[in-house]
Amino acid sequence: MIIWDNHFHVDPFKGLFLEAVRQFHRADGTHLVVVYKTAHDYGFPGLKAEDFMKAMDFHIELVEKINNETPVKAYAVVGVHPAEFVYLAEQKGLEYARNEVMKALEYAQRLCLEGKAIAIGEIGRPHYEVPEEIWEASIELMKYGMILAKEADCAVQLHTESFDEAKFRELGEYVREVGIKPHRVVKHFSPPLVKVAEEVGVFPSIIASRKNIQEAIKQGNRFMMETDYIDDKRRPGAVLGPKTVPKRTKAFLQNGLFTEEDVYKIHVENPRKVYGVEVEE
Ligand SMILES: [Zn+2]
Repeated sequence: MIIWDNHFHVDPFKGLFLEAVRQFHRADGTHLVVVYKTAHDYGFPGLKAEDFMKAMDFHIELVEKINNETPVKAYAVVGVHPAEFVYLAEQKGLEYARNEVMKALEYAQRLCLEGKAIAIGEIGRPHYEVPEEIWEASIELMKYGMILAKEADCAVQLHTESFDEAKFRELGEYVREVGIKPHRVVKHFSPPLVKVAEEVGVFPSIIASRKNIQEAIKQGNRFMMETDYIDDKRRPGAVLGPKTVPKRTKAFLQNGLFTEEDVYKIHVENPRKVYGVEVEE
């Protein structure tokens, strides 16, 4: 059985790194989408495009290490986290920050085109309050990331403030404006609004809490599951642990909330469609 966690971080400095991946595997997890953290997390200052590029290369190496040293199949997602843009704009000004982040996103696109990454992410807008002009610029950069993904025919993983139906509709407008295929736009940390997401043309990646997944599956199986595991020993329990997606999936299958078909759709067909990758055991 294939079990896919769609949003997982690793941190070789502050976290368990390969041990977290092994925990996922011991719980019967098989496939991981490993998402870039921040340049700062990886030991780079995050003050110019080159810093982000080096951090993305470092991230790709971490993913290669997982593939070489564990039985788990890992895929890389690279981008510039919205918080990195906010920080850079505060340090060096909006224009400078916008330019550097655009260059870095173009590099992320190149890594997708070279087959080293499967998506650009997490990009988007901050989940906390920022000045109006930074907010607007974040949306422009999110759209730019979508344009790059459209050109490369790869996916994007979006990070945003907490979401509701109205925000999904707003995002749907950007998706239409950019013209990117709806199944290529993944809303990371999505609430269980499966039907709304489908209607507006966004693919939900839902936090795998029992409550969320129970609600999601009532609406259909067009979604993926994620932990957003952050791999930080200083913040245990800040998010779901590495075993959550396999544990939840098996429990839901056992108690009949998922059918075999649901599991196959969520963990194999949906990832295949979104990322255009072959998903094999
Ligand atoms: Zn994340």
